[in-house]
Amino acid sequence: MLVICCPYCGPRPELEFSYGHEAHIARPADPSLLNDQEWAEFLYIRTNPRGVHAERWRHIHGCGRFLNVLRDTASDQILQTYETGTTRPATQRGEAAR
Ligand SMILES: [Zn+2]
Repeated sequence: MLVICCPYCGPRPELEFSYGHEAHIARPADPSLLNDQEWAEFLYIRTNPRGVHAERWRHIHGCGRFLNVLRDTASDQILQTYETGTTRPATQRGEAAR
């Protein structure tokens, strides 16, 4: 079983977590200023990289808090977890923080 390290609770079984969506999606400051195309892009357009991807997960059967996960989509390996509201850490695989 895969073990994910919740930044608030520590190592826990994968079954306690739920995937949410891509991490670090900034909400528009004033959505009423967006046209339909910009709103659609905010709602639906996401990156889909092969390699390291920053994702928002929730420890739904634990503390209930949201967390960010750096996961390699090619190997399904979780490289790092970190608290929401913090910047994406650089990885050892050469991907820059964003
Ligand atoms: Zn937790």
